[in-house]
Amino acid sequence: MSDNKKPEKIVGVKGMNDILPADAPLWELFENTVQTVLKSYGFQQIRTPIVEPTPLFARGLGAVTDIVEKEMYSFTDSMNGDELTLRPESTAGVVRAALEHNLTYDGPKRLWYQGPMFRHERPQRGRYRQFHQVGAEAIGFAGPDIDAELIMLCQRLWDDLGLDSIRLEINSIGDADERARHRTDLIAYFEQHRDQLDADALRRLHANPLRILDTKNPAMQALVNAAPKLLDYLGEESRAHFDGVENILRHSNIPYTVNPRLVRGMDYYNRTVFEWVTDQLGSQGTVCGGGRYDPLVEMFGGKPTPACGFAIGVERLLELMKASGEQFTPNQCDVYLVHQGDEAQLQAFVLGERLRDAGLDVVLHCATAAGPGSFKSQMKRADASGAAFAVIIGEDEVSSHTASVKTLRGADGESQQRSVEFDSVAEYLVDQIIGAGHDDGHDHGHVHYKH
Ligand code: ATP
Ligand code: MG
Repeated sequence: MSDNKKPEKIVGVKGMNDILPADAPLWELFENTVQTVLKSYGFQQIRTPIVEPTPLFARGLGAVTDIVEKEMYSFTDSMNGDELTLRPESTAGVVRAALEHNLTYDGPKRLWYQGPMFRHERPQRGRYRQFHQVGAEAIGFAGPDIDAELIMLCQRLWDDLGLDSIRLEINSIGDADERARHRTDLIAYFEQHRDQLDADALRRLHANPLRILDTKNPAMQALVNAAPKLLDYLGEESRAHFDGVENILRHSNIPYTVNPRLVRGMDYYNRTVFEWVTDQLGSQGTVCGGGRYDPLVEMFGGKPTPACGFAIGVERLLELMKASGEQFTPNQCDVYLVHQGDEAQLQAFVLGERLRDAGLDVVLHCATAAGPGSFKSQMKRADASGAAFAVIIGEDEVSSHTASVKTLRGADGESQQRSVEFDSVAEYLVDQIIGAGHDDGHDHGHVHYKH
């Protein structure tokens, strides 16, 4: 800098979070569990771009939705004038991709995705401008069976994560003509009580009256509770579909409540809708929302194709995992390699590779701006790394072709040091680690998740 002033720090975008290394074990545990559970139901991962053409969301989500009305990060690509949007959700993108690549030509598909979503909301606990979702989309399935399977899959995920405070609410919002009849009565009902409607509700009265049922305004709860219920308008087929879902859930011992006021934010939903909610996260208590969206593929120009899916809010779920009091001990590695002297450093590089060949995670001490580091400062780093062992190579070890292995986290809390033949260090450490139950023998993940 020519003017000798310290440059100002640039901070991240409001409402968009850095996920720091201290939280990485929690994210990894969650992501690994999700992947295992989805795979166990035969779901295949799909990755679509973060940016999509703006009309995809405008058409897919419906104009009178929170997202399209006020939450989208939309911009004009200054290079070519394209209208683009950072995806606020992934169903539209996944369905676009499925159509574009004709994924369902040989039968229905069970798909899942994960990644960041973007919504311009007021940042608060559990509500961010960049957040993450994991979701599943089952495309080409018409019956209540897949709806129930998606719900059961979620239940298994909560169980595997040790979460027991999440409860299920389900509802049916019927088909378009059933909603139309209900809508007429609903508007008439709200018209009669116009004086009790807030500004949001008045705005939605004719555009999207169903969303009024979703209001969080305490002053309107009595009014919406007494409003005409969609469930009473279901025709025979919709009713049978909903009964089918309930039947499978009951037989599978999945507890649920029917919430006749449950609707979904997006226009494309029909029939089954569901939410997983918890009381432990304050007002942002919905950790997962899903439902059937039979009309969407056709709205995007495809052949009529029934489909059903859900999306999990990852940040909210992780907060719940933290709140459940589970302990995460994020160790950086199994072994920290300490060395003193030029020849010892070269030996340390050789040994490091051998230990990694044996499946161990190894941090080799490297120089900082303060220099290569004294023995003492290297041992401090070894301790801080959370490694079970420090392996030390100094001049003596080089000349005797050995290494010193120091226990940093022995079962009895005591540290021991012993000299091991250089060529036997890997074998020795693997035995020690497996013997001490530090590891399960194949996955050296350092997250010891304690129930
Ligand atoms: P809400 O009523 O809380 O605004 P929504 O109906 O907009 O939720 P969906 O579009 O159904 O939410 O998204 C599915 C899940 O994604 C939500 O249940 C929630 O867990 C999570 N989610 C939605 N918006 C955010 C956000 N801004 N920040 C963090 N998580 C979010
Ligand atoms: Mg929202």
